Amino acid sequence: MSDNATIPAKPTPRPSPESQPYWQAASEHRLEIPRCNACGEHWFPPSRSCPHCLSADITFAHVTGRGKVYSFIIYDRVYHPAFAGDVPYVVGLVELDEGPRMITNIVGIAPEDVRCEMRVEVDFRPAGDGLAIPCFKPSAG
Ligand code: ZN
Repeated sequence: MSDNATIPAKPTPRPSPESQPYWQAASEHRLEIPRCNACGEHWFPPSRSCPHCLSADITFAHVTGRGKVYSFIIYDRVYHPAFAGDVPYVVGLVELDEGPRMITNIVGIAPEDVRCEMRVEVDFRPAGDGLAIPCFKPSAG
């Protein structure tokens, strides 16, 4: 397309009451996910109670932002016109070192070079409205 005015903006995240602390931390380039004060487990996505023991005594805890690619897929079709300039891109399932898995984008690497078990680290990308999206890029360890 030659006329940028015809390209719609990408959808921006819409924080829910449960996910608002996660998005607030991400906007400040910190990765924080829920942790249960009763049993100590982390989980994702955020919810009002612990999926492991059902306690509602939860807090958002800073995590390392390091993990590995559990699975991924390369998108080479345009499903939304705002992403036309991004294809091909990688949607991955990253397993954090703390345990939970997150659906995310794998960035900073050619899509054909992404591999399962590859070590990655969080890389925040601007998402409009002052928000940032936690993506993951290759890491040395
Ligand atoms: Zn728990």
